Amino acid sequence: MAPLLGCIADDFTGGTDLAGMLVKAGMRTVQMIGVPTDPLPPGIDAVVIALKSRTNPVDEAVAESLAALRWLQKAGCRQFYFKYCSTFDSTPKGNIGPVAEALMTALDTDFTIACPAFPANKRTIYKGRLFVGDVPLDESSMQHHPLTPMTDANLVRVLQAQTKRKVGLVDYDVVHRGAAAIRARFSALKAEGIGFAVVDALSDDDLISIGAACAGLPLVTAGSGIALGLPQNFPELAASGSRAAALPPTGGLRAVVAGSCSTASLGQVAAMRAQHPAFTVDPLDLAKGADVVGAALAWAAPKLIDGPVLVYATANPAEVKAAQAALGVEKAGALVEDALAAIAKGLVALGVGRLIVAGGETSGAVVKALGVKGLRIGPEIDPGVPWTAALGGDRPLALALKSGNFGTPDFFLKAWDRL
Ligand code: ADP
Repeated sequence: MAPLLGCIADDFTGGTDLAGMLVKAGMRTVQMIGVPTDPLPPGIDAVVIALKSRTNPVDEAVAESLAALRWLQKAGCRQFYFKYCSTFDSTPKGNIGPVAEALMTALDTDFTIACPAFPANKRTIYKGRLFVGDVPLDESSMQHHPLTPMTDANLVRVLQAQTKRKVGLVDYDVVHRGAAAIRARFSALKAEGIGFAVVDALSDDDLISIGAACAGLPLVTAGSGIALGLPQNFPELAASGSRAAALPPTGGLRAVVAGSCSTASLGQVAAMRAQHPAFTVDPLDLAKGADVVGAALAWAAPKLIDGPVLVYATANPAEVKAAQAALGVEKAGALVEDALAAIAKGLVALGVGRLIVAGGETSGAVVKALGVKGLRIGPEIDPGVPWTAALGGDRPLALALKSGNFGTPDFFLKAWDRL
């Protein structure tokens, strides 16, 4: 069976967030890193293509999004989902409006929704105004965002500044009456020539109603919240009875590679060091040209058989500052990322089949070095961090990519039991 839902996310972590939501809602989901070149593995219900199109020039964002759409169409997807941030991160130039408009044109449709609401994370929409916790968007910290400062909470106005199509509103008075009322309002707005309907939503129940009302719409544009409400529109999902988070069985040796210096990671590294062998990567050694990668792999090779090992550059703020003062911020970061990526590759060659990577940038470097093209999303270890099965590498690999402050202190100890 071809996948049902094809999603385009405007950044990587946004893609991960959406993929996790879809799995929870019962869809077997893969997240692809950039526009794929290979065909999709079988048995997938939803595909999320993660782009980096939130803040790049409009033309580039549109071109990449259209390329992603073409691949998803070719893969056989039936409905398409443009995922942006729950704080509607954009500027009057875009990229949400122009990308959504281009996708509508390509899909030959003249109506879609715009709904970044994510009540579980306290993003709600009322009368078209987006709230972050207790305050309107323009009073939240988003007003000071370096790239996409949000200075107006009225999403109808914000989106209208980015698009030639008319923007309207499905008010909460309609939304709380349920899916049929919402659908009727969609039809009325369409008849008025409205292209985008901003939809109010205060709760997960509202998202379920809105999702039901979106059945058959070629395109949905939203944060990840609406993902809760879409799977119900595909009866074949229930029929397949699949366990959405089940991964192919994985074995192999176990390792953790940590390049994150966030507070949570510092605690997690300390907890693992207390129980397992650990190797420190020092940026100053790397700068001197020492063969740190070779040393780390020679150290790990005999130990892996006895249990998980830890290789880490994780350091406290004073140590990081000292390395950055000696080498420069960028050089220190790049040296460490390159070394950890090479070590991860070497560990996989030594037989590691279950690998945890700590750090967002570090994960990007490791994924690239391993030639990973996509991630089949599996069971969650802690909120926002699932085990995944890597697609596109040389051999089967279970991968957990943990960004900075995620995870409990015993994350590196307990994660193995969740596979
Ligand atoms: P997080 O998700 O916590 O932000 P990242 O991997 O995105 O983690 O970023 C951490 C950055 O710090 C990376 O560029 C990494 O190479 C760098 N880094 C790691 N250890 C050190 C260190 N000891 N000194 C200086 N920089 C380091």
